[in-house]
Amino acid sequence: MEHLLTADEAAHHASLVKDLARWRPDAAGWDRDGRLPETVVRWCREQRLTGAALPAASGGGGWDPVRTGLLYEAAGRVSASLASLVNVHHMAAEVVARWGTAEQQRDVLPSLADGSRLAAIAMTEPGGGSDLSGMETVLEERDGRLLLNGRKVFITFGGQADVFLVFAQRAGRSTACLVDRDHPGLTFTPMGDVLGLRAAALGQLDFHDCEIGPSALVGRDGFGLAVLVPLALEHGRHAVAWMATGMLHEVFRASSGHALDRHAFGRPLIEHGQIQSLVTRMGTDLEAARHLCLTASRALASGDPAATDRVLTAKYFACRVLEEHSAQAVQILASSGVLESGDTARAYRDAKVLNILEGTTQILERMLAPRLANSARRSG
Ligand SMILES: Cc1cc2nc3c(=O)[nH]c(=O)nc-3n(C[C@H](O)[C@H](O)[C@H](O)COP(=O)(O)OP(=O)(O)OC[C@H]3O[C@@H](n4cnc5c(N)ncnc54)[C@H](O)[C@@H]3O)c2cc1C
Repeated sequence: MEHLLTADEAAHHASLVKDLARWRPDAAGWDRDGRLPETVVRWCREQRLTGAALPAASGGGGWDPVRTGLLYEAAGRVSASLASLVNVHHMAAEVVARWGTAEQQRDVLPSLADGSRLAAIAMTEPGGGSDLSGMETVLEERDGRLLLNGRKVFITFGGQADVFLVFAQRAGRSTACLVDRDHPGLTFTPMGDVLGLRAAALGQLDFHDCEIGPSALVGRDGFGLAVLVPLALEHGRHAVAWMATGMLHEVFRASSGHALDRHAFGRPLIEHGQIQSLVTRMGTDLEAARHLCLTASRALASGDPAATDRVLTAKYFACRVLEEHSAQAVQILASSGVLESGDTARAYRDAKVLNILEGTTQILERMLAPRLANSARRSG
């Protein structure tokens, strides 16, 4: 990894890896408990991780996309749930930083930037997550009051966030608003027993005549799906690509180490041809994922118009190879890889859900196929 980075970037990454490693022994327990302990959330805040990429002028870290990506890589090595805490917080907060009103930037953003309040993002509904145009949550005026009604599901850290960025339809146009967790008319129900991201306190939000002040609206009417969702998803996809790469790093380390140490039929596993094939493909895909992620980060940092394509490609590739290789890693580890509490088994479960959130594999293929084909045609 370090060979791809400048000396400053490598030092930044090494320090993140070292700091985050303290939580490695605890990550399996978080999955069992279905949430991150407050001590971990507080530590993230104290380390300025929740807010790292938010504007320095608002109290955030002002980290560039490369430094932010390396944070997700280092966090992914420890726990996809921990990395997701930082991610969903940024997805919501970056929308406020970019499109929030002057009042929201003054009153709300500083507490998100310094991490004293945690944010989550609520787009998905029981009727669908890929096609948000069918969203049924509505914000309507009744007797001079602005009322939110509807249901959001699979909200990462819904159980621990202080404030939600909620997407809704208002008179047929998509919009977004901020709703505090203790706001009257909002109820939260935990969604237990998920396949992956088990420590991410997933939950359902129900809004029943939840009265919103006009000051809670973010962006203009019609901006919801057209402007705010793409902005949030760009952060989310860049984050998930790097987090998947960090997870693959760990999966590769564990399974290739096992292949070196474990013997069968008088030889170490690494000398058996079929295992060599698995290890070689995993190692080269890991290196390719790092390159794609870094290319995406550098494109974001330089404002390259191709940045969105690069982010989509990195998310698609990193998550796909993580899913494939985490399954192969369990195969190499065999009986020692199947324990529920094992790191590789956890990566195997988390890998599946990373191919569902922030755009499923199929949705990304739908977006990427024409972009890649047209780019190939243009390049001659
Ligand atoms: C662990 C986890 C955490 C999540 N966190 C959040 C969160 O914090 N906030 C939030 O708002 N949402 C969250 N989600 C929801 C997530 O974004 C959605 O699950 C995702 O967008 C897919 O939506 P869906 O589950 O409704 O599947 P659907 O949209 O119903 O899709 C079902 C299947 O059909 C495929 N499909 C759909 N359309 C097409 C098409 N046009 N062409 C080909 N195939 C298609 C999909 O790829 C999928 O395989 C989370 C989900 C999970 C699993």
